[in-house]
Amino acid sequence: MIRQYELVEAVKAYDPNADEDLLNRAYVFAMKAHGTQKRASGDPYFTHPLEVAGILVKMRLDVATIITALLHDTVEDTIATIEEIEKLFGKEVAFLVDGVTKLSQIEFQSDKAKQAENFRKLLLAMSSDIRVLLIKLADRLHNMRTLHFVKSEDKRIRVSQETMEIYAPLAERIGMHTIKDELQDLAFAQLHPDAYESIQSRLNFLREQGGDLLKPIVEELKEVLEENGIKAFIAGREKAPYSIWRKMQQKNITFEQLPDIIAFRVVVESIAECYRALGVIHSAYSVLPGRFKDYISTPKQNNYQSLHTAVIGPNQHRIEIQIRTTEMDEIAELGVAAHWQYKQGVTHDGHQYRWLRGLLDILESAEGPEEFLEHTKLEMFQDQVFCFTPKGDLITLPRGATAIDFAYAVHSSVGDHCTGVRINGRMMPVRTELENGDQVEILTSKSQHPSPTWERFVVTGKARSSIRKFVRQQMRQQFVDLGRTLAQKTLKQEHLEFNEKNIEHAAAPFGVKTLEDVYAYLGEGLKSTNELIRILYPEHKAAAPSKDEVPKPESAKKIKEDALAISGLIPGLSVHFAGCCHPVPGDHIVGIVMTGKGVTIHATECDTLERFMDTPERWLDVSWNAGKHEKERHVARISMVVVHQPGTVAAITAIIARENANIINLQFKNRSPEFYEISIDIDVNDINHLMAIIAALRMSQRVISVERG
Ligand code: MN
Repeated sequence: MIRQYELVEAVKAYDPNADEDLLNRAYVFAMKAHGTQKRASGDPYFTHPLEVAGILVKMRLDVATIITALLHDTVEDTIATIEEIEKLFGKEVAFLVDGVTKLSQIEFQSDKAKQAENFRKLLLAMSSDIRVLLIKLADRLHNMRTLHFVKSEDKRIRVSQETMEIYAPLAERIGMHTIKDELQDLAFAQLHPDAYESIQSRLNFLREQGGDLLKPIVEELKEVLEENGIKAFIAGREKAPYSIWRKMQQKNITFEQLPDIIAFRVVVESIAECYRALGVIHSAYSVLPGRFKDYISTPKQNNYQSLHTAVIGPNQHRIEIQIRTTEMDEIAELGVAAHWQYKQGVTHDGHQYRWLRGLLDILESAEGPEEFLEHTKLEMFQDQVFCFTPKGDLITLPRGATAIDFAYAVHSSVGDHCTGVRINGRMMPVRTELENGDQVEILTSKSQHPSPTWERFVVTGKARSSIRKFVRQQMRQQFVDLGRTLAQKTLKQEHLEFNEKNIEHAAAPFGVKTLEDVYAYLGEGLKSTNELIRILYPEHKAAAPSKDEVPKPESAKKIKEDALAISGLIPGLSVHFAGCCHPVPGDHIVGIVMTGKGVTIHATECDTLERFMDTPERWLDVSWNAGKHEKERHVARISMVVVHQPGTVAAITAIIARENANIINLQFKNRSPEFYEISIDIDVNDINHLMAIIAALRMSQRVISVERG
């Protein structure tokens, strides 16, 4: 634990004018305030603010920041008040302590809406003064360093997730890479202890096996540069376990396949020397392609500058090398904190603040969603999207949510009457997946009703249950209408009177309550019109079957067989597959009732469906019957661009034949001297079969592209 005089000495080393007396008073005040409080480790609580101050001293921050670090938990955890602190330590310190206290009070809650709200508060609080954020990050860093003392696993996991999702990205955003790396590694060790252990033990193994890998490489690099008249400070380090793990995850590779687990910093005097050093290294070693990046001529958004390259270095080790000047190096390690040192008293107009100010403005006015998205890094909430109403209200939805979900989240009546959507001012399909920062305006009409297909485009329970409720009513209405028509036709054909009062008498024998129920049973096919007649006119003898009867018993049977592959159809209506989208088993499908033509099955993505958007009563919620379509073949259409060479068509047909499919139709389009387009209809079993064929075609050298449709 750092001692009182050591702390004061360390501050005076970089700020000779520091108010020694004030520092000492803060030290004593905090120690007394925390009294006998203990940390989870069993240490006196006061060790915590002291260590936090120590972290900030290493960043050489101003005295007000160091004093705030010492006092940062006194208002929250002790009887000390802000007024007291203002009286003893002045306005500036009181303002900073208040800022840090407020940040601590907005612990993230599980409630999603509150989380977003808190995040906004967090940003607002920190933009009041960047030092508040720096203290909060140092506070979080020390808490993470001592997290293993905390007994509750739940708490360790929650704190680690928060660190990973909120504090590490914030540290990165303001360029504090050292702190970001340490926060990520500490959180990683808690969240994935097995992976962390295994990477650590492999690193240890490498160290034991290769002895000190870093030193000989540093020496050789130094020599090579000195031979060319460049004096450089060179340091090597292993990559952090978390960044190794993430690379293994992202590229799906093993530890052994990692190209470079060691990286070297080459720090030189001037920008000119950076480029000269790069030239020397590139001529001395083989360069790994695709790895060179020049962040000196185009700095990163957080002001990071450096040249990056990777070479096969000394002893055939693949190494990453970063070349930069001393000033760039400090900014790279400390980010905004280094900037602070160079420009003491920098105002909020300084470059580092620009993104914060911009963010604040956007949050306040809720305009410019693209900018909002770009600046906030809201992606840190991986499983959520944040969107705005035109009035600027924030709506939080699960990732994958569409405009329909948004409409239902606003209000169920908005969802039920949604006719269209304007996203960021542009008309878009209602099934459009929303992205962070989208401004969403739902258009409604009293006459609009939910469409059964919507259910396929929604991810929220509220939207799904509302749509289902409506669809159930809707289906019933269809059955009632169909049942009434069937009753009318059959009675007319039998030369019997169509009398609704009379038909109602069938309710009890059918085991239902109302006239509508009777129609619904007839429409759904649960009872036949013959049964109805038998009940109403027991004496009546059936007339000879006529052509008008709907449906004919035989054709109904035939249709039933045709339709075996699909469930959710209305009995008596014939079914065929749309020629525009050629749906095959496995595709999401929807049925459209076509007057006089039965039901047409479309893929839910089919653009033709837009035409039926305003007649939801024609939409049928259908799906493939598992197992029933196995023996059947379905026509699928694919479009290809292929090279114009002899033998190309033969090669393609051979591939399709090998995949056990037949070509039904083949059409050439748009021939050019180099390429031509072909549209091919093939018969396939299902979507998996089709995908396998497309994959096989894509493997061919002669094929430029393959798409469905
Ligand atoms: Mn604290």
